[in-house]
Amino acid sequence: MKKTYEFVVIGSGFGGAISACRLAQAGRSVCILERGKRWDKGAFPRTTGQVSGKAFWDEQKQYGFLEYKAFRRIDVIQGCGVGGGSLHYFNVHIRTPERVFQEPWPSEIARPVLDPYYDLAKDGLDARPLEPPVGLPIPSRTTAFMDAATAAGKNPSLVDIAVHTGPDRSGSGGHLQSACTYCGNCLLGCHVHAKNTLDLNYLALAESQHGAEIYPLHAVTYLTPAKQGGYDVHFQHLDPECPGQFEIGTVHGTHVIFSAGALGSTELLLKCRDEKGALPGLSNALGSRFSGNGDFLLAGTLGANRDVDPGWGPSITASADWSSPDHVITIEDLGLPDPLFWYLEGLLPSGQRLRDLLRFSWVYLLQTLGRSWGSTRVSREIDALIMGGRTTHFLPYLGIGTDAADGQMQLRNGAIDIQWQHRRSKALFREIENAMREMTRQLGGRYATSLLWRWPLRKLLTAHPLGGCPMGTRPDNSVVDHRGEVWGHPGLYVCDGSTIPTALGVNPSMTICALAERTAFLILHKREMRASDPQTPQNT
Ligand SMILES: Cc1cc2nc3c(=O)[nH]c(=O)nc-3n(C[C@H](O)[C@H](O)[C@H](O)COP(=O)(O)OP(=O)(O)OC[C@H]3O[C@@H](n4cnc5c(N)ncnc54)[C@H](O)[C@@H]3O)c2cc1C
Ligand code: SF4
Repeated sequence: MKKTYEFVVIGSGFGGAISACRLAQAGRSVCILERGKRWDKGAFPRTTGQVSGKAFWDEQKQYGFLEYKAFRRIDVIQGCGVGGGSLHYFNVHIRTPERVFQEPWPSEIARPVLDPYYDLAKDGLDARPLEPPVGLPIPSRTTAFMDAATAAGKNPSLVDIAVHTGPDRSGSGGHLQSACTYCGNCLLGCHVHAKNTLDLNYLALAESQHGAEIYPLHAVTYLTPAKQGGYDVHFQHLDPECPGQFEIGTVHGTHVIFSAGALGSTELLLKCRDEKGALPGLSNALGSRFSGNGDFLLAGTLGANRDVDPGWGPSITASADWSSPDHVITIEDLGLPDPLFWYLEGLLPSGQRLRDLLRFSWVYLLQTLGRSWGSTRVSREIDALIMGGRTTHFLPYLGIGTDAADGQMQLRNGAIDIQWQHRRSKALFREIENAMREMTRQLGGRYATSLLWRWPLRKLLTAHPLGGCPMGTRPDNSVVDHRGEVWGHPGLYVCDGSTIPTALGVNPSMTICALAERTAFLILHKREMRASDPQTPQNT
């Protein structure tokens, strides 16, 4: 690592990877500090032992790529690793509808302004509607979802997903990408590189062709203004062999970009201001406007009148717009890795399964004692045990909506804490559940609400944390301006989900990408990009 770079980028998720790549392409010296590891495709866990020993992040025990945090009224799941959330995410890229970009968004940000940047990001991530790989049909989960939404009077469509469906090709860093196999394990990382994760495109391009330097297992702890200008970034270099052990170090950046995610960037800036006294001028709005993006997870239709087989195919494939006059609402099909469905299968009580099990045991015993005169095959009984299963006819949903974005993040015992209430967002969640109930009616099943949403927990799980360093028009109501630059701290930028000041009502990564493309473009060219701009950075 050199002593100084023009740009030090903290975090390698969507905001960090894209801004770093564009700056490196323009010849700037760029260094990326990422707390997580690099993940080769073969390293992603599959067995129960591997999942329990490798998947989750725990500083004292293991450096996994998924982090689950529980707060008082909301849980957050997020990513850690070279590629950030792209390693485990569900690949969906949707543009935020124009009606969302109102106050408190700065007036400079509007859909027509963002569209050229959205185009760039769509191209960079190669996001497109699912085209089934050769020999595979559209997944049954997708058709079940599309049919139910159509019957409910909606106009569902296949969403853009960053999934390669063939033929084999080489990514920007020379990685071999094969077609999606429909294994359904997107959450656990892709074994064939079919997911167009950031380490295969933006990061690979920045590193292998434009000299950006990526430092995994480098967790930034705080930053101080440097005497010669710019900032000194202090980090811990984590020891991969001994979790919890590290060496400390410092690197100087003329400019620094915080891209540690909604929780990570907010936590770091709160530490800089409140613990280290290093950036005392940071706005009082720091920590405000936290949103779970109206995520409503873990709910679905049980006992649908058709096969759904939810674990088959890329984890999200289709969406339907259920917006109302008051809220933007998106409902999507949601697949999860099969082991989770097997687990659920065992948990769900079912009289039929008990009858099938007794029947299987009886037939098997008779066969074993030589008392049966019929066929010795018990496959029909084994089939009944599985096919009678309740998860085969289970369609899980992801609901997303414009919640009130009124959560507050702060430090508690030196770590990030979220104060969140759903009081002002209750009407939204009622509308989301009504949409799911209507889908259920069309599928002839029974609606099951989220386990977390039931009494006495009454809490939510979000995969889309936003806010904490909101962008806005003035330092008293926001942390960064419309370009992502921190008020009062020239050369210090925030470029990730933390700057988004409202819920989006759709999956957020596309908008994080577009804002990152825009920040990099404005830094480099000091003006807005236009469609067909000759300055448009190249993706190859
Ligand atoms: C299961 C799941 C599925 C999802 N599916 C979708 C989807 O289909 N579509 C969609 O739009 N969104 C999806 N999301 C959400 C999406 O992953 C996030 O919105 C997105 O990754 C946020 O991007 P970001 O740039 O803000 O930060 P991230 O992608 O979270 O990247 C932040 C990076 O910073 C690193 N970091 C944090 N702290 C430090 C530190 N102190 N020092 C150094 N590095 C640090 C982290 O390790 C991480 O790699 C999903 C999320 C989950 C959990
Ligand atoms: S379903 Fe997901 S994890 Fe499995 S091959 Fe396709 S993209 Fe990869």
